[in-house]
Amino acid sequence: MALDIQLSDDISNRQLAEQLIKDLSDRGEVVWLNDKLESVTPMSEVAGRKFLYIRAAQNRLLRFMPYIEKVFPETAARKGIIESELLEINEFEKAVKKINPELKGRVLLKDDAHLPIAGSVKARGGIYEVMVHAESLAMKAGLLHPTDNYSLLDSDECRALFAKHTIQVGSTGNLGLSIGIMSAALGFKVIVHMSADAKEWKKDLLRKNGVTVREYESDYSFAVEEGRKLSAQDPDSYFIDDENSEELFMGYSTAALRLKVQLFKAGIAVDEMHPLFVYLPCGVGGAPGGITYGLKQIFGDYVHCFFAEPVGAPCFTLGMASERKSDISVYDIGLDGSTIADGLAVGRPSSLVCDVMDTLVSGSYTVSESKLIEYMKLMHDSEGVFLEPSACAGIHALMLQGNGQFEEYIAERGLEDKMAGASHIVWATGGGLVPESVKAEMLSV
Ligand SMILES: *Cc1c(COP(=O)(O)O)cnc(C)c1O
Repeated sequence: MALDIQLSDDISNRQLAEQLIKDLSDRGEVVWLNDKLESVTPMSEVAGRKFLYIRAAQNRLLRFMPYIEKVFPETAARKGIIESELLEINEFEKAVKKINPELKGRVLLKDDAHLPIAGSVKARGGIYEVMVHAESLAMKAGLLHPTDNYSLLDSDECRALFAKHTIQVGSTGNLGLSIGIMSAALGFKVIVHMSADAKEWKKDLLRKNGVTVREYESDYSFAVEEGRKLSAQDPDSYFIDDENSEELFMGYSTAALRLKVQLFKAGIAVDEMHPLFVYLPCGVGGAPGGITYGLKQIFGDYVHCFFAEPVGAPCFTLGMASERKSDISVYDIGLDGSTIADGLAVGRPSSLVCDVMDTLVSGSYTVSESKLIEYMKLMHDSEGVFLEPSACAGIHALMLQGNGQFEEYIAERGLEDKMAGASHIVWATGGGLVPESVKAEMLSV
């Protein structure tokens, strides 16, 4: 099939971009390198956003700790901090190095699949934005002051206030879970607009939490649009806009501050001789974008962030390689957007994220469906860690080390002799809430 895609005028290597888009349209595995990547000064103003913004988001999460600890007892061990482990996965690392002997350095797993409350990376951004809204409403009503112990939000008075308000969101599943569970706990009315990809068990779990679930036969962008429209008709409704939200983005970015401490405690250096590579599954781009933004603010040029997408829904790679960003969707190149990686089943990327990532993301790549399943099993068999298929997309980068564009990237940046000291973090983004019966089924395919 000849593709008739209009590329941006200022694209530097047109032939390369055209070939890459052709490969994407054939559901091929590709690697895209960002030739606009720029040097970053940590803790400065990056892409128009000050480091202070991350600190402010972090402070809000700290203010909410007593509330979170009280209402979600599973967070008690961390006193109400919503955080995941940074795991050494030696058995998995050995298994991967057998498959790809070119992989150098150590491999770590950032286990956001087991973040408390929502069991996915969405517990970072989604819960954070609900906090922003709840805090603002409670303060305006005079029920909350900055110096209060926020556990008072768990009171009849506050619940009565929140009950007059609705929170709405469009979701492929996990964002709905994080926002639904958090909003319902505070007492809000919640409506989650679910795309066709959303799994039944995710809808059931939400309904059990008192959340209204609206189902659509269409894709994620449609669910978001419907939610946005319906919310706009109700002055007491707040729409969490996954395609454009600064709040979600900053919520995700705080992961970097936490990761810095975890790396330090583990005695893992990130510096000139010890580059850090991070592989982040990407749907609309919010989670990987926010995390990348935070990591660049902390580690500057020593961190290299790559986004991972399924071959069925490579919206970010398409948007960036064509430089059309959110003006192009995977449907425009003949894909239908379907994938077993339901958390990544997105046809069009966030324009906000594409803009911010323009000079920050090192690149992105796509991975086939069958490999996602293979990696899911490999992780489960070697480490006993269950991840949903979406969460396994990061793993693919380990298999690409020492070859093709990854080798080119390393060479271009003079990193060859530093790779022995490198750390590779596979960001595992979901799977913690998957029911046992569904897990067993997924592992048996
Ligand atoms: C949502 C999600 C992602 C990606 O987040 P985006 O903000 O959509 O890019 C990755 N993995 C899982 C499991 C998710 O649910």
